[in-house]
Amino acid sequence: MKLPDRKCVLSLGAHPDDAEFLCAGTLALLQQQGWEVHIASLAAGDKGSAVLGRAEISRIRRAEGQRAADLLGGQFHCLECEDIYILYDRETINRATALMRRVKPSLVITTSPSDYMVDHEVASRVTQTACFASGIKNMEVDEDPFEPVPWLYYMDPVESKDRFGQTVIPGIWVDITSVMETKVDMLCCHASQRDWLMAHHGVDEYVDMMKDGGRLRGREIQRTFAEGFRQHLGHSFPQEDLLQSALGDWVVTKE
Ligand SMILES: [Zn+2]
Repeated sequence: MKLPDRKCVLSLGAHPDDAEFLCAGTLALLQQQGWEVHIASLAAGDKGSAVLGRAEISRIRRAEGQRAADLLGGQFHCLECEDIYILYDRETINRATALMRRVKPSLVITTSPSDYMVDHEVASRVTQTACFASGIKNMEVDEDPFEPVPWLYYMDPVESKDRFGQTVIPGIWVDITSVMETKVDMLCCHASQRDWLMAHHGVDEYVDMMKDGGRLRGREIQRTFAEGFRQHLGHSFPQEDLLQSALGDWVVTKE
């Protein structure tokens, strides 16, 4: 397939470090191919500290998100929802739609529709709607609509399993071995989260957890590290596999 003229990817997740855990390798590969990268979080990560108040940890985590995006020459956006209280409501959908219209991505990546935490599942639904609504005129947002509806892909759930513990099988694997170092560097920008876990467990559990996930997906395609994705193929969404067209040999698909 012919690639879209505008090579722009938006990762829209629930929390500031979701992209760094689950799709930053793919974002790094896209950036190498000349794509503009945007990383967005619905919530500011305001529950991510046992010692700091909400405003203070949110400020720290917004800065960490931007530092990670900087490594890909990208931009970080926070839609200022609250951890635990990300809602599928009018206000949240409008904020996500407004962001979508400012960024005008051709490719969108969001959290898994079934995951360990409801924030991820709601972010997934909000993002689906914001994509669908990108061209709809009578929305309550100031930004102009755009077409066509972006390609939409879902990240793996955390630990690659759904709420019943079943391993989710992705349709698409992206070999991220060559950019693993960049992915680790991006994740380590989230020092507030990494240090907190390290202090509690004595090991670098934050980075280890990400690498374990990458190794699991890598094994499935006989590579060292990979990220898994599923494509949204409902009515009105693009049906071709844009990730495969954009990343070629880095992508493995299975029926
Ligand atoms: Zn998260």
